[in-house]
Amino acid sequence: MKAIAFESFGPPDVLKVMDVEDPKIEDNEVLIKVFNTSLNRLDLLVRSGKARGQFTLPHIPGQDIVGKIEKVGSSVKNFTEGEIVVANPLWGCGKCEFCLSGNETMCLNWKGVSLHSKGSYAEYIKVYEKMLIRPPKRLSTVDLAAMILTYSTVWRALVTLGNLRSDMTVMVWGASGGVGSFAVKLAKSFNAKVIASVGSDFKREIIKKLGPDLIVDTYSDKAVNEIIDFTEGRGVDIVLEIFSGANLNCSIQILKPGGKIIVFGVLQGIKSEIDVMYFYRRDLRILGTHHANNWEILKALEYADKNNIKPLVYDVADIKNASYYHKLMEENKIYGKVIFDNTKLHET
Ligand SMILES: [Zn+2]
Repeated sequence: MKAIAFESFGPPDVLKVMDVEDPKIEDNEVLIKVFNTSLNRLDLLVRSGKARGQFTLPHIPGQDIVGKIEKVGSSVKNFTEGEIVVANPLWGCGKCEFCLSGNETMCLNWKGVSLHSKGSYAEYIKVYEKMLIRPPKRLSTVDLAAMILTYSTVWRALVTLGNLRSDMTVMVWGASGGVGSFAVKLAKSFNAKVIASVGSDFKREIIKKLGPDLIVDTYSDKAVNEIIDFTEGRGVDIVLEIFSGANLNCSIQILKPGGKIIVFGVLQGIKSEIDVMYFYRRDLRILGTHHANNWEILKALEYADKNNIKPLVYDVADIKNASYYHKLMEENKIYGKVIFDNTKLHET
């Protein structure tokens, strides 16, 4: 089959259209003909060799999977050929206490698509049956590809961990990104107040259309004071922290007593120094999260279907141009989501 793959870790131009081995399914797996996938920051880390995982070269990046079941293994019970499905990009061992309680994201030995298996920048991909989810029929495959990883992560952060309510104020750092733009949309749909940070005037204009209550400049020294003033000195209930590094201290300063910082990214650094006394005297909480479990993905998609939550789309692109979009994302020129059309590979 054809795939967008790389033979050595490196810059965007290592990505090439290649002929690679067809995936061979085991009894408990299905083969999916991929219709769409999307660009995520993780793909850049995988390609450049900075992601933690187990890789054999040539390697295929890509985590989001939307497509049609082409073939099922002999022990697959609940899905049949021809069904349109999405797949959770993460799977657990199925044996530990976290897996047994439905919390695969916390599995002691979790694995991820493109980190421990070949990714979805391909004509076909194989996944375990337990990773499959039947999406609401009205959502397009393009929208689904944009949603699985980013929007489900936002859902878990804001709804499961944040207990989002209409009387809350949510701070979204990096609001113009794939995760951030979904966070603004989801929090607004709950009628919560939303403060969004952006890094450029161009992105400010884009994010303004999503209706946040306040927009601050990510790189401004005044951002923390503007946020505190906006909340009349009280602070916000939830901070979505995608930057970490030195920004974590800003997040702590803008939090209401008892408030939560939910960390799911380290774009500004993996090490942070915090004022611990300030932290415990205000009863603050820092929670970590990555991905979402199958139930959360399903609930997130059903909510999107009922409440018309759509991705902020930068482009729907031929996957053969993946290298170009990797470069744009590295240069921080992309807002929202780039969704790839994998069917172009079938035509090659
Ligand atoms: Zn487990």
